[in-house]
Amino acid sequence: MRKLDLHWKILIGMVLGIIFGFIAAELNWNQFVINWIKPFGTVFINMLKMIAVPLIIVSLITGIAELKDISRISKMGGKTIFLYLVTTMFAVSVGLILANVIKPGNFIDEAARDQLMAQYTTDAGSKIQEAQMQKEQGPLQPIVDIVPDNFFSALTDNGKMLQVIFFSILIGIGLILIPEEKAKPVTSFFVGFNEVILKIIDITMLLAPIGVFALLSAILVEIPSFSVLQALLVYAFTVIAGLLILILIFYSSLVTFITKNSYFSFLRAIAPAQLVAFSTSSSAATLPVTMERVTEHLGVDEEVSSFVLPLGATINMDGTSLYQSVAAIFIAQAFGMNLDLPTQLMIIITATLASIGSAAVPSAGMVMLVIVLGQAGIPEAGLALIFAIDRPLDMCRTVVNITSDATVATIIAKTEGLLNNPKVKNWDDHYPTNNG
Ligand code: ASP
Repeated sequence: MRKLDLHWKILIGMVLGIIFGFIAAELNWNQFVINWIKPFGTVFINMLKMIAVPLIIVSLITGIAELKDISRISKMGGKTIFLYLVTTMFAVSVGLILANVIKPGNFIDEAARDQLMAQYTTDAGSKIQEAQMQKEQGPLQPIVDIVPDNFFSALTDNGKMLQVIFFSILIGIGLILIPEEKAKPVTSFFVGFNEVILKIIDITMLLAPIGVFALLSAILVEIPSFSVLQALLVYAFTVIAGLLILILIFYSSLVTFITKNSYFSFLRAIAPAQLVAFSTSSSAATLPVTMERVTEHLGVDEEVSSFVLPLGATINMDGTSLYQSVAAIFIAQAFGMNLDLPTQLMIIITATLASIGSAAVPSAGMVMLVIVLGQAGIPEAGLALIFAIDRPLDMCRTVVNITSDATVATIIAKTEGLLNNPKVKNWDDHYPTNNG
């Protein structure tokens, strides 16, 4: 009998996790789930996070060293950043249009608004404080933050991925610039190490169905009561509609027009990464899976994926930027504010930058939303309004974030002639190790 594909196994784990979570919440088994089920989810996320930094280092170093030519790096780098910016700005614009057409803020009556404000003001306060700390830094601080003063301390902090990327790129460039016979042993070491890391990802993915079961059931028992969520349904619908437009229309057109391959196969190939993104709400934790799927199943050459994907996980967040624009308009509408056109255009810029600045971890987008609100003159305390429903929306926007990374990686690979490496004949071919 043919074994089940990985994405089906994960999907089954998710569905069972949701069903079990609902039952557990009904029967008040919250403590049991938190003590006995959630830890398996935490182990799964930790395994993914554990592998993220070593993966970035080895794959970037081998990827760049194999380019053998500095000018190709700058060309690919320029193209990548351009595409990331264009997709993000498009996403924000979709969010703004939808929020202005649907006007989700008008659906929230005064009673619901007061209830949410009363219930979530303290939670919102801590996010506002976090954002305040970021705001107090100078305007060029993000650039300073990319350069570590100590590589080893950067290695110990998953939040410092851009620093790790920076250093790994330098090592890769160094390897290109030194004589080949000197570079060879170092490159061979990293090439071998890379294979080991990819194997560890395969092993980790065996845990995925159980991991997502545990994560989703824990989320369900910790989620606020449905009566609060009801008031926010139109807002949630607006965000999800925007995310669907990106996934079903925007990326699908890009992938089909540029690569001439079927978008359905593209989605099939990256489905496990999307499901892991949904369950973990973290692009950084999902990176190992995204990397494996894009390289082994979409046939994007490692030269491209090793550079484009880690960078994308940290700076390219279309889902987050779309959510930030909808949330900003929603909060403004709920407070009866009318935002004029220049303010809305300004939101395109601030939400783009805020999404770039958001860390690839759960609810980071919400912290940076505070900055968007501040710039547009919308009361930051309004964060309390969207708190209750943030986690489910975070799960959905993270799926879009990694789908966008995979789309851009595929486009770059195609335009550089680096799509379809010989290992992968077409997108439906599954790599033997993951075929069940
Ligand atoms: N959780 C998102 C990610 O990791 C970021 C966010 O929007 O909060 O991609």
